[in-house]
Parts: sequence; structure tokens; C-alpha cells
Amino acid sequence: MSMEIAKRLAELKESLPDGVTLVAVSKTKDDSAIMEAYEAGHRVFGENRVQELTAKYERLPKDIQWHMIGHLQRNKVKYLAPFVSLIQGVDSPRLLREIDKRGRQAGRVIDCLLQVHIAEEDSKFGFDREELEELLAGGSLREMEHVRVRGMMGMATFTDNTAQVRREFASLKALYDRWLEADPRADILSMGMSGDYRIALEEGSNMVRIGSSIFGARD
Ligand SMILES: *Cc1c(COP(=O)(O)O)cnc(C)c1O
Repeated sequence: MSMEIAKRLAELKESLPDGVTLVAVSKTKDDSAIMEAYEAGHRVFGENRVQELTAKYERLPKDIQWHMIGHLQRNKVKYLAPFVSLIQGVDSPRLLREIDKRGRQAGRVIDCLLQVHIAEEDSKFGFDREELEELLAGGSLREMEHVRVRGMMGMATFTDNTAQVRREFASLKALYDRWLEADPRADILSMGMSGDYRIALEEGSNMVRIGSSIFGARD
């Protein structure tokens, strides 16, 4: 086995400030790649497809904390509810209600992040500012005993314009701070990927989702 993955992982962890959680994004990567990171001591992995995530959960060590980082359809929540550690891409109140229902059935409280739309590209899913305010004001969160909103996640526009990326991350940090005023238990701000995580950290991220810088480029 090459030790490239373990080496890149170690360098990356070394460079991250204390208190920042690294989610190793293993989508499309095979079990041996994941196990190399696992043997190096890493336990938090992110996947963006339900089928791939559940298959890997079944095959791989049970102390791995699996994060669902992609768009999640309501009819697939039931497959993740028994084991998922964090659902990062909650992009609607209806999805949140479905997670609550499936969490109840599984006898768990499921940790979630609200995905917020910050990119100028309009192809990305997520809440906008008004929808967040509505969710906070509406009171429905209090009735959902089987979901716990731990904070927010967002993706910046895919661009070389670093000023724009910084602006978008700053806007998410502001929304997160606003949310914290109403719900001081929130503690996760997930922003930053291989190409932009340094900017994200400067703008207040405490969780980065990194794939290609650890595992190499995806096909
Ligand atoms: C794929 C993916 C990542 C990781 O992207 P890299 O550029 O490989 O680091 C992070 N977040 C989400 C939501 C992703 O889908």
C-alpha cells in the first residue's frame, strides 16, 4: 500500500487550527483508500450518495463517523437514519421533518446542518436568509425532538475570484452568528473544500470537507 493518503492527511491535519474538524470526503474512493486514512487514525468521512454511503457503512469499521454531505432526497432518509453521524445538506423544512420522523423510528436524535445558499451560481441547493428566519421564528424546530440543528454548511462559487469566495463565506458566517443568537447550542460552521478551505478558515469555519487534497483527484 502506498502511504500517500496517510501522508497528505497528516500534513493537512498539522496545518489545521485547533478546534477545526476535518471531514475526509471519500466519495467515489474505494475501501482501501478509506482504510489507509482509517489506519492513520482518521474517523470522520463524508459521502454524497446514499447508496454508496450505506454500502461503505456496512463493509467498513463501525466506529467511522459518516457524514452525508450531498443533496438528500426525502425518500432516502430512512436508509441513513439508523447510523448517520451528521446530515450536512439539509436544504428544506420538509426534509428536516422527514429526518425527525425517521430519527424517532430509529430511536435517535439526528444531528443536522442547514445548508445555506451563498453562491452566486443558482445551481446549488439550500436555504436563503428569509427561509432561515422563518424556520427560527416558526417554532417548528422545537417540536422536532429527533433532530438537532448543530449549525450550517455552505459552498462558495467555484471561481478563481478569491474576493468573491471570501465574501460568500463571510455572508454564511454572519447568518450563522445570527442563528447563534437565537440558538446558542449550535456549534458547527461547515465551509471549505480542497480549493478554498484556507479562505473558509479565515472567515470562521470550524469544519472543512476535503476530498481531492487527501485522496487525489476523482475520475
Ligand atoms: C465533493 C465535495 C467536497 C470535497 O471536494 P474536494 O474539492 O475534493 O475537496 C466537499 N463538500 C461537498 C459538499 C462535496 O460534494
